[in-house]
Formats: sequence, C-alpha cells, structure tokens
Amino acid sequence: MELIESRSIFSPATGFIRRGGFEWTCNPYVGCTFGCAYCYAAFLPQNRRPPAEWGKWITAKKNAAELARKQARKVAGQCVYMSSVTDPYQPVERSLMLTRGILESLTPHQPRLTVQTRGPLVARDIDVLKDFRSLRVNVSVPTDSERVRRMFEPKAPPLETRWEAMRQLKDAGIAVGVCVTPTLPVENPNAFAERLADFAPAVLVCQDFHDASGRFGADTGAEARRLLAEIGWGLADYRRFVDRLKRDGTVYEAEAGFFPPPAAAPVVGAGAATLFDDCA
Ligand code: SF4
Repeated sequence: MELIESRSIFSPATGFIRRGGFEWTCNPYVGCTFGCAYCYAAFLPQNRRPPAEWGKWITAKKNAAELARKQARKVAGQCVYMSSVTDPYQPVERSLMLTRGILESLTPHQPRLTVQTRGPLVARDIDVLKDFRSLRVNVSVPTDSERVRRMFEPKAPPLETRWEAMRQLKDAGIAVGVCVTPTLPVENPNAFAERLADFAPAVLVCQDFHDASGRFGADTGAEARRLLAEIGWGLADYRRFVDRLKRDGTVYEAEAGFFPPPAAAPVVGAGAATLFDDCA
C-alpha cells in the first residue's frame, strides 16, 4: 500500500454522478483491493496502472480526514457521493479509518451524502452516519449467488455479510439503497426478488451487464464478459429479472438510480428550507 499526501479530498462530480445531481465526489483511496472483474474504475485515466493490475494495489490519502476538516465547508448542504472510483469500506479502512475521519469532519456541515459500498465495515460507522440528516447508504448486492459472487468479485465480502450490514443500518434508522449493479447472473430470481421486497430498500437499482463503450458503469473488462458467457446469462435474463422485481415496486435502472437522498427536513426554528428537494 502506498500512502500519499493529497491536495484535495472533494472533487467536482463528473459523468453519471454529475448527471444524477451530485456536486461533489469524495474518494479516500485510489485503487480498490476488492478488485471486481467488471469494475469500470479500472479503466479510468486517474488510475495510472494497467487495468490488468486492478485490485492488486491501493493508494491511501493519509491526510484525508485533515483535508476534510479544512475543506468540508465548501460542500455544506450540497450533494456528495462517496465514493466514485474506489470503495470507502475496503479492508484497509478498518485500520486507517480515513472514511470515518471524513464522515466526522462532514457532520457539522450536513451535506446530502450518499455512501456507496460493498463493504459491511460500513456498519462500524453507524454512530457517525446517524448524525447526517440527509443520507443514503447504497450497498451493492449484485447477485443472490455466492458462486457467482466468487467468480466476479472473489475478494469482495460474502453477500450475507452485506445483508447483515444492511439490516444493522436499517435498524439504526438509516436509509439503505440496494444496488443490484451490475446485475450479475441470478440463480433464483423469485426468491431474490422476494428477499429484496421484504427488505424494502429506500432505492432499488439494477444495471444491465453489457459493454457500454466507455459510458456508464458496466463497461466491463474482457474477463467479466468471458465469465458472463460461461454462465450463459444475457439481456433477456436480465429483463425477466427486472420485470419480476417491478411486480413488487419501483426499480431504477442504471444512471437513473444514482441520485442524492432527499433534503433534510428543516430544523425547527431555522429559516425556510425545502423538504424532499432533490438536487437532480
Ligand atoms: S468494490 Fe467498487 S470500486 Fe472496488 S473493485 Fe468493486 S466495483 Fe470497483
């Protein structure tokens, strides 16, 4: 692992994050040791290493919390997405606690925050997350199958640990979105749909797994496409699954599902504020 001094911790949002209504992104790390086979971040220009090495390296912004303390004022009340090119709760966060430090620095300034992760470690920070008045934690659960998960994201946490973290977050009163993104092959669509419906996420997102020619997230590497072909999952299977999910409620697809949480209710006694006024 490389430790660096970074100059900034909040960057102007671009691409689908910007189109979704976010003003800022926040990435405590560069690189991601979860190393998912389909990760679009592996192909981004800010990652100077070859895509083939994705998942094998990580750079930590060791001054992330200090920077956040100095720069949090500029994102006050605005829509922040954490994280767009890394996972804020990958294993190294357990000891470095950069994500936690950023959260602690942000709470006095109350941005409208979305935390995006595959890491159950997010549950560690429930005490800080509860201090945000406008927050959604999006947890990625791209399949119901541990076999499939191990094929596409062998270094990411087991699915059940993510479900357990989601339960803890929800029990703490935190809005939880479930991102079935990119939607990997599903073994039992009915049972998965029922489980998702029972959980009743704040937002449910699916994403077709395809070659997006450099656009949104599922612009996959060759290895992921090879695995997909090996399993024999295609667009028709995806559509059938999404149609099944839609019997139980709203399903957002791709970019449409990545938008900020509703604005916080006004604090009693404070000046006029807007209820449920999305940035988007
Ligand atoms: S967890 Fe997210 S950032 Fe990390 S490798 Fe997987 S898709 Fe990429």
